[in-house]
Amino acid sequence: MVKVNLCGLTANEIFDLIRHSGFTINHAVAISNAVYKKGISDISKISKIPKKLRAELDAIANTGIFMPTASELSADKTVKYLYRTESGKEFETVYIPENKRNTVCVSSQSGCRMGCQFCATGRYGFHGNLSAGEIVNQVISIPHESKVTHVVFMGMGEPMDNLENVIKACRILTSEWGPAISSRNITVSTVGITPAIEEFLASSECNLTLSIHSPFPLERKRVVPAEIKYPVHEIIRILKNYPLKKKRRLTIAYVMIKGLNDTDLHLAELKSLLKGSRIRINLLPYHMLPDDQNSPSTTERIHFFKHELVVSGISASIRKSRGIDISAACGLLASSLIR
Ligand code: SF4
Repeated sequence: MVKVNLCGLTANEIFDLIRHSGFTINHAVAISNAVYKKGISDISKISKIPKKLRAELDAIANTGIFMPTASELSADKTVKYLYRTESGKEFETVYIPENKRNTVCVSSQSGCRMGCQFCATGRYGFHGNLSAGEIVNQVISIPHESKVTHVVFMGMGEPMDNLENVIKACRILTSEWGPAISSRNITVSTVGITPAIEEFLASSECNLTLSIHSPFPLERKRVVPAEIKYPVHEIIRILKNYPLKKKRRLTIAYVMIKGLNDTDLHLAELKSLLKGSRIRINLLPYHMLPDDQNSPSTTERIHFFKHELVVSGISASIRKSRGIDISAACGLLASSLIR
């Protein structure tokens, strides 16, 4: 008999596994707490349930928690972990400690099929979707001392291309019987698949970030193939009109490449696209791939963009690069998997 993995199940789904023997929802919650809050990887070590339940559960289930197979430490204390699933899918996860904030950047797929030009994961190709359990496992299994406070879906893969598992992972991560991370501290990032974005906005309370690369459709099509089917102007229109709940954040990520998308024309178009909306913009420097002809915008140019956007009434910030020396920064994941 194939055993079921507990990591990836809701408390109700765990209850469905054990209710026939007379066990209660409280027992299911105790099991979820052991898996999701304590990261217990061995069912025989779950202490707050009856011995009979432990034995029955052990016969039909595994915790589904598995550890990374390798890690690399950056000079700035960022750590990149490599995971390999039983079926051989590989993916990377990044742990980013910063003052009181501890962020885990999770992957939603092994590789990616969106083919964005400036992304190592795109070059690695698509090797499969991750299950909700494989996504949640990245948050609870990485070996770190401090509590994870934030989760960003900015690792390998396009979350909107694996929406069902991403929404379920968000639900588990934010649940009281799960790691109980606030939905305000979870951000899902996308290059834009319009129907999936609409479904995500309606089914989850987590934040959304849209990577645009260029505000000009023709130019964007050349670097983000998703633009051909899902025009970013239409997505921004949807985001602008979305009745946003308090503190939920919608953000545009704008990777700045010297001479390519950091001109005055780009700045003017960004202002006109975002003016009068509650959408924020996060500017970040481009991270170069091996044999790259492009280079990041200068720090002065990035700060100039931020200043100009802010004085136009648009909320703008600059994202600090982390883990560049271990290829853990934005756009670089999977560099070491390309063989
Ligand atoms: S930028 Fe995101 S969507 Fe595009 S190829 Fe890379 S991982 Fe995939």
